[in-house]
Amino acid sequence: MLLKDKIVVITGSTRGIGKGIAIQCAKEGAKVVVSGTNPRLVEEIKPEFQKMGYEIESFVCDVTKRQDVEKLMRCSCEAYGGIDALVANAGITDVIQFDNLTEEHWDRMISINLKGVYLADHAVLPYLKENGGGKIINISSDCGVEGWGFHSSYSAAKFGIRGLTQALAKELGKYNINVNAVCPGIIDTDMWKEGDAMSSHITGDPLGSSWQANVDRIPLGRAGKPEDIGKAVAMLLSGYADYITGTTLMVGGGSAVN
Ligand code: NDP
Repeated sequence: MLLKDKIVVITGSTRGIGKGIAIQCAKEGAKVVVSGTNPRLVEEIKPEFQKMGYEIESFVCDVTKRQDVEKLMRCSCEAYGGIDALVANAGITDVIQFDNLTEEHWDRMISINLKGVYLADHAVLPYLKENGGGKIINISSDCGVEGWGFHSSYSAAKFGIRGLTQALAKELGKYNINVNAVCPGIIDTDMWKEGDAMSSHITGDPLGSSWQANVDRIPLGRAGKPEDIGKAVAMLLSGYADYITGTTLMVGGGSAVN
């Protein structure tokens, strides 16, 4: 097992990629902490994992709220006795013509997708220092290495995550803390369904067209699944990645290269 008894906190992990990461880490022996804003999902996920024999705690946490994020780390530490790793995964999408991108749209995107990563990284730091080191993975995107049309605020946030990741890798190495970014490609989750519907609203193309066009250009010939990201994250959190920091790992079947 790659992550035997490691304590891994994952933001935005009640569904989609975050949940895939939580499952894969738990399969590798980690004690996971799942979180999200929807209290029903936070409650339902605990028995679901326990039925599979996985160790889990779950808490409500909105990554835009400092007090929520600090409480998440405090409760995780109280539950398990420490924290070994954070995966800052929570995020939203917005597919919109730039002319129509209001300040409210922009602020919401930056607040969840970029400030939320800062808040989580910042809140976990004392625990990782106390632990004598640890690992942080920030979830960026293909849009974090090449801006996409109609994704201006999303691309800006995802590029920002990679800048933050690189800076922290340099600053925190002396504490034995590795900081890396993972860029998922085209992954089959609720987010893509939402994004596809927003695209078809803009272009007038039928639902599913944007999804299919993007899947068709993936060199490995298929869309990604949350478990594909989970496997890459588990590897980066494991001892196999002890000498890897400040990097961006593209996990998209070749949908984008860096
Ligand atoms: P989903 O929309 O399927 O899931 C998003 C998760 O984030 C949910 O668990 C949701 O939980 C949580 N969330 C949303 N807002 C907040 C918030 N304010 N605070 C805390 N949690 C929140 O998205 P994906 O799984 O597809 O995406 C996960 C990450 O991967 C995102 O950062 C996304 O940008 C990135 N990504 C996804 C790609 C894809 O193809 N799907 C491609 C590239 C990157 P709840 O509803 O309970 O709040």
